[in-house]
Amino acid sequence: MLRASTTFSELSDKLPLLLIALTKDLKTIVGEEIGDAYRHGFKSAAEEGKVNVTMKKGGVNSPENKESDKLVFKEARMRIDFDQADEDAIRVISSNEVQNKTYTELNSILSTKLNQIITQSITEGRSINATVGEMQKVVNTEVYKLRRIARTEIINAGNEGRLASYKKQEARRKKPFKYTLIVTNNSRTCQAHRELARRIPATGLLMDDLIQLQQSVGSSYGLTLRGNSVLHPNQRTTLIRVI
Ligand SMILES: [Zn+2]
Repeated sequence: MLRASTTFSELSDKLPLLLIALTKDLKTIVGEEIGDAYRHGFKSAAEEGKVNVTMKKGGVNSPENKESDKLVFKEARMRIDFDQADEDAIRVISSNEVQNKTYTELNSILSTKLNQIITQSITEGRSINATVGEMQKVVNTEVYKLRRIARTEIINAGNEGRLASYKKQEARRKKPFKYTLIVTNNSRTCQAHRELARRIPATGLLMDDLIQLQQSVGSSYGLTLRGNSVLHPNQRTTLIRVI
């Protein structure tokens, strides 16, 4: 799109539309990944308990708008529905504040930086091709940063899917599960997650207690609870029930 430009003013005229298209594409991609992560979390949490999942026909946005054939067990003990409430949850996660803010910021950062490149190119007498190459580099870097933030949202969506699935199983069996968090533990794991991992008993915690513990540990390190996990970019934690 940009390489077809013959003048610098043509190039800068195309920028606003380019940024709108870029943001829209990214939102679509991340939105799909969030939906997939939630569905995958929901199904894998059901699989752990050998619970069958029915994809309800009412699920408007579900690409799997049919009976699931992936999770049929010989002795089905229980069946839960992936329904409209789950579709709604996906929509809420996809359109949450953190993400919208991130996209707005991406747009304004790119707008500033790309315009700077054009101005510089005019001053330095660079070719259109070389300019577009420079612009592409900036776009790649900023998109990479955005995707790093989005990854946290996607992990969060997976955990929300798992939790929704567990909650439906709890309602069927009429007895609460105990939960724990699998915290990736390596040299880059922060103090908050280390402490969290240390303080969750091996037997797990009821969901309310786990949320409370996360809030108290998180807040003492200046982290906020997003969804049901203390999250920040590049932290991977998985919600799991203790068997
Ligand atoms: Zn951490």
